[in-house]
Amino acid sequence: MINFHSHQPQPEAIVNLPRDLQFSPDAIGILGYSAGIHPWDSATTTDDHFERLREVAARPEVLMIGECGLDALRGAPLYRQEPLFVRHVELSEELGKPMVVHCVKAYNQLLRYRRELKPRQPWVLHGFRGNDTVAAQMMQAGIALSYGPHFNVAALRATRLDHLYVETDDDPDTPIQAVYEAVADALGIDAAFLATAVANNLAALLQP
Ligand SMILES: [Zn+2]
Repeated sequence: MINFHSHQPQPEAIVNLPRDLQFSPDAIGILGYSAGIHPWDSATTTDDHFERLREVAARPEVLMIGECGLDALRGAPLYRQEPLFVRHVELSEELGKPMVVHCVKAYNQLLRYRRELKPRQPWVLHGFRGNDTVAAQMMQAGIALSYGPHFNVAALRATRLDHLYVETDDDPDTPIQAVYEAVADALGIDAAFLATAVANNLAALLQP
């Protein structure tokens, strides 16, 4: 069962590189990596750090750009996070790799950037905990949603199966199977059926 976003080197996971952008030497059976600068680190990010990201992000085992994004509750003030986020969008477009996005209390800004920058690459909003109205707005803007151990059931039920991913994020104690079962349960479908749908979505997402 594919784990769309994990901070641990787990099998069948897209592993988010840590802040130092070091690859995990003990990673076995992972799908690949995502590389970005977390908005929580936005206050202390330098140009050098971004240049290093640019090099790492170009490597073939890096499948996605991120997690990056906007967080109104943590990190630098939003007006300083926004230019960093835009640089990630540019990098994603340049390299032709989709983005995994972190967004807390900044949904309108995220939608505005999607509208204004008109990126060709897909974005996936990870660890989504918003409500069904926000879910609908995101999908309308072409942003897919990834669900972790905690989610809003109405939002999940409003999410199209071809816009849906499943993840453990930074929770090392919840197995990905348990998240699939919880999500499938809330949707009233079979976990194996859900896993097939997510695998198909990821294959389409990563198609060059
Ligand atoms: Zn994360």
